[in-house]
Amino acid sequence: MAGMAAAIRLALFDRKVLLLERHNVPGGLNSYYAQAGRRFDVGLHAVTNYAPPRARGAPLNKIFRQLRIGREEFALSEQKGSRIVFPGFDLSFANDLESFRAEIESVFPQCIDGFDRLLAIMDDFDSLSSHPPDLSARQVLRETLAEPALEDALMCPLCYYGSARENDMEFAQFVIMFNALFREGFGRPLEGVRRVIRVLRNKYRSLGGERRLKTGVKRIVARDGKATSLELDDGQVIEATHVVSTIGWVETQRLCSDREQDAGKEEIGRLSFVETITVTDLQPADLGWEDTIVFFNTEESFVYERPEDLVDLRSGVICFPNNYLYPDGENLDEGFFRVTALADFNGWASLDESIYKEEKAKWFERLHKVSMQVLPETDEARLNRHVIATDMFTPRTIQHFTGKLGGAVYGAPDKRRDGATHLSNLHLCGTDQGFLGIVGAMLSGISIVNQRILSPS
Ligand SMILES: Cc1cc2nc3c(=O)[nH]c(=O)nc-3n(C[C@H](O)[C@H](O)[C@H](O)COP(=O)(O)OP(=O)(O)OC[C@H]3O[C@@H](n4cnc5c(N)ncnc54)[C@H](O)[C@@H]3O)c2cc1C
Repeated sequence: MAGMAAAIRLALFDRKVLLLERHNVPGGLNSYYAQAGRRFDVGLHAVTNYAPPRARGAPLNKIFRQLRIGREEFALSEQKGSRIVFPGFDLSFANDLESFRAEIESVFPQCIDGFDRLLAIMDDFDSLSSHPPDLSARQVLRETLAEPALEDALMCPLCYYGSARENDMEFAQFVIMFNALFREGFGRPLEGVRRVIRVLRNKYRSLGGERRLKTGVKRIVARDGKATSLELDDGQVIEATHVVSTIGWVETQRLCSDREQDAGKEEIGRLSFVETITVTDLQPADLGWEDTIVFFNTEESFVYERPEDLVDLRSGVICFPNNYLYPDGENLDEGFFRVTALADFNGWASLDESIYKEEKAKWFERLHKVSMQVLPETDEARLNRHVIATDMFTPRTIQHFTGKLGGAVYGAPDKRRDGATHLSNLHLCGTDQGFLGIVGAMLSGISIVNQRILSPS
């Protein structure tokens, strides 16, 4: 997403651009695939940052403006409503901060002044600065809310949708994610991520941009502090005045001819996930499930770290792509629900192929069981009769298809907001620049190209 946005932005300014992608389909961490004739999105729970068309300063509107894409082309529909489910309480939210605030006031009346103080602190904080202060979100929440349960309940969705750090996040990232989820909220095209990818691809094509799939970069040749050429997997060599890398900080360094092949080992992110996908021939609403997304935690405290077991069953995210307000009562032909949970990359990576399949089946069942305890009660026998397909991916799948080391979806814990690398014309954008998620990645592509190539200071 970052690469496609960066390429369009450059092409809009008549730069000659070549977009290289190693996989045979575009989209990276948010791509798509087919299995037994059925089309799946890799992820796409939600396009975050859904904001009304004229909302000033909204990141999504900025993306449409900067890429000269009509907002209607993404065909986003709003979520129905989501929940944070913790032991003893639930917090509902939709694309409207006021109703979320009212929900907090009713469940945690003693915290509402603190919550208002937190909102005011966030309003005054420059979260988009290229050098934000390294402030712990946990610390700010502790000082303003003074209520561990509410602190955890806010951290849970924000960590799951965008923290590369274990058990905390930079306050700047917290502010970005808070706005993305609770102020602006969730949207989704009926067609899923394919819609977003197709719009970006068509825009890029219309500007004459060149794209090559199944074309990996094997080496970035460095000389005198600059990237002079790229060696591709097929042996071809390409020269460029600028190289924009969206593959990750450590991954990029390891391609550079002046760096060790195992550089940056200690900087690789530790957080990865499994996701189960269940397809039914019923809509989730027919099973009594009306939520769009449910963020859950079943323990007294919320723990966000690499688990010791293959999967951490104590918390997770359940998503129903059917539960959006699609136009004219339309909906997906089949029912989908996806359950995401923290997972241990090393554990999954070290399994033998035969055991790997067995473990997948075992953890699928366990995660499914947890989700049944979290969701509104349903007739499980009826549900089982209507399941027509299942799938599951693990951290190993993520590394295999995207090259993300450690299957670390949100990359390295320390971000490089200015996009600079040790080579003056090699620029980093996407996940490790620091803007996460689909919208974050596109924004990152645009802003790094603007700042570092189109109008460098
Ligand atoms: C299961 C899942 C669900 C998600 N759900 C959501 C969601 O609902 N909403 C949301 O906003 N975000 C979601 N995300 C996160 C979001 O997908 C990512 O934050 C975002 O897509 C990152 O984009 P990127 O461009 O920075 O990086 P990437 O997508 O990692 O792009 C990097 C690209 O570089 C390619 N590449 C790697 N190495 C090479 C090489 N040597 N040569 C050439 N190409 C190479 C990769 O194949 C990849 O396509 C989800 C992620 C996952 C895994």
